[in-house]
Amino acid sequence: MVQSTDLSQGRRAAATAPVAAVETFTGNRGLQLEERLIFEYAHADRSGVDLPEPPKVKDRLGGLRRRGAIGLPGLAEPQVVQHYTRLSQKNYAIDSGLYPLGSCTMKHNPRLNERMARLPGFGDVHPLQPQSTVQGAIELIGALAGWLTTLTGMPAVAMSPAAGAHGEMCGMMAIAAALAASGEGHRKTVLVPESAHGTNPATAAALGFSVKPIAATADGRVDVAALKAALGSDVAAIMLTNPNTCGLFERDIREVADAVRAAGAYFYCDGANYNAIVGRVRPGDLGIDCMHINLHKTFSTPHGGGGPGSGPVVLSARLAPYAPRPWVVRDDAGWRLAEEDGAAGDDQALGRLKAFHGQMGMFVRALAYMLSHGADGLRQVAEDAVLNANYVMARLKAELTPAFDGPCMHECLFDDDFLKDTGISTLDFAKAMIDEGYHPMTMYFPLVVHGAMLIEPTETQSKHALDEFCDTMLHLARKAKSGTAAEAFKAAPLLAPRRRLDETLAARKPILRWRPTNQGPGDGPLKQAAE
Ligand SMILES: *Cc1c(COP(=O)(O)O)cnc(C)c1O
Repeated sequence: MVQSTDLSQGRRAAATAPVAAVETFTGNRGLQLEERLIFEYAHADRSGVDLPEPPKVKDRLGGLRRRGAIGLPGLAEPQVVQHYTRLSQKNYAIDSGLYPLGSCTMKHNPRLNERMARLPGFGDVHPLQPQSTVQGAIELIGALAGWLTTLTGMPAVAMSPAAGAHGEMCGMMAIAAALAASGEGHRKTVLVPESAHGTNPATAAALGFSVKPIAATADGRVDVAALKAALGSDVAAIMLTNPNTCGLFERDIREVADAVRAAGAYFYCDGANYNAIVGRVRPGDLGIDCMHINLHKTFSTPHGGGGPGSGPVVLSARLAPYAPRPWVVRDDAGWRLAEEDGAAGDDQALGRLKAFHGQMGMFVRALAYMLSHGADGLRQVAEDAVLNANYVMARLKAELTPAFDGPCMHECLFDDDFLKDTGISTLDFAKAMIDEGYHPMTMYFPLVVHGAMLIEPTETQSKHALDEFCDTMLHLARKAKSGTAAEAFKAAPLLAPRRRLDETLAARKPILRWRPTNQGPGDGPLKQAAE
């Protein structure tokens, strides 16, 4: 029996035979069931419902009648329920345990928010209902907009963008429209610091700008001298994240804002890391022109698994006229989603960014989060998030190598220096974490740090949970440095449903479509044809 000595909370190393070596007839591991594609369970002639044979009617489809089988999987209801339940159990989630992804705040979604989102007046409304029948829902959008402009100290907000990246597009389109309106459409360069999230350069490029990277200094901040040297009459904007993706506050942000404005350009701030400063710093005071807010990060609406985000964009006075429609208005007739040209300048608005008005369910959750925390509670969110990250950094510093000196904001960044000469990479280390029951942190990002490991614990983890995590990380780091563990690290994960996948092949040659080999009634389970 192996017994671990450094897990202070009394967790024991697995006292079993080498589990990975156990092979089963079914492929199942204990009650962890192996899952196949739904098509592979299905029979084309099976159905979850009994329907009477339809009466014979004259075929009016002309030549359009389907000739082959439709190819949908036929299953009974319990099989469908079991399939999706098993799949959901493979999905590691914030509700399962610590989820330390850096730069992508993954925090607890309070259940109160869910209850509010399911209130019939919010959950059952339809975007095409007459506005007079959804006054409360529109008022809620207005109230949330009010919180966002107050918290950020910005005069206007566009509510409809569906995610952070969509918000970036909204903000950069507003900048492009403002430049065009002032006869400065020739400004086609966007400055992006090297540590930026990939969506920043991607947004700029997608809108036809050319991207010029700006170097970072040795202490992980934007190089202001390099930035000033790059500012010229061709520059449309800078896209800067603050706190940046190294988890550091950009100390020179006022100087950056002044220089950008003096050069006739706009300042886009990526607000994905707003969780670190909400209630403490008003971005409007920093001189920015627009910033997206990921409601699904800072304001706890659920995300991951692809679904739905919400990325409202706050705008400065000089960009507000270029905000997309609709905007919330209150007049004598009540609350209204205005789409018409009206007040000075707003006929320049971009038009709609998406169908309807934004992610209503996310709006409800975000406002519930704000109201339940209050202004002081939101400030404490930021303080506790920063405290937790610094606690993790202070403990892990004993064995891991921080990328930069000094305290961090809401996330702490390590490089792979501590793994030097061990033959173990950041990837191997992350895979070993999976065997220990931890979802890995963000790896190899930001790119400015070699073998980066970016950890964001968030404010919703207890000290107990952080200590267990740190104990595990320290244990793994010591094991890695022992000089005898390289093979074990290379073999990890041993306890996951799958070992290491060929990620390159999956990215380069994805098999996106399931093709049956046969579909005739009674042919038995459908088979996937070789691609
Ligand atoms: C998450 C994130 C984004 C993109 O936001 P989405 O809502 O995922 O589109 C942009 N920048 C940074 C720094 C982020 O962390």
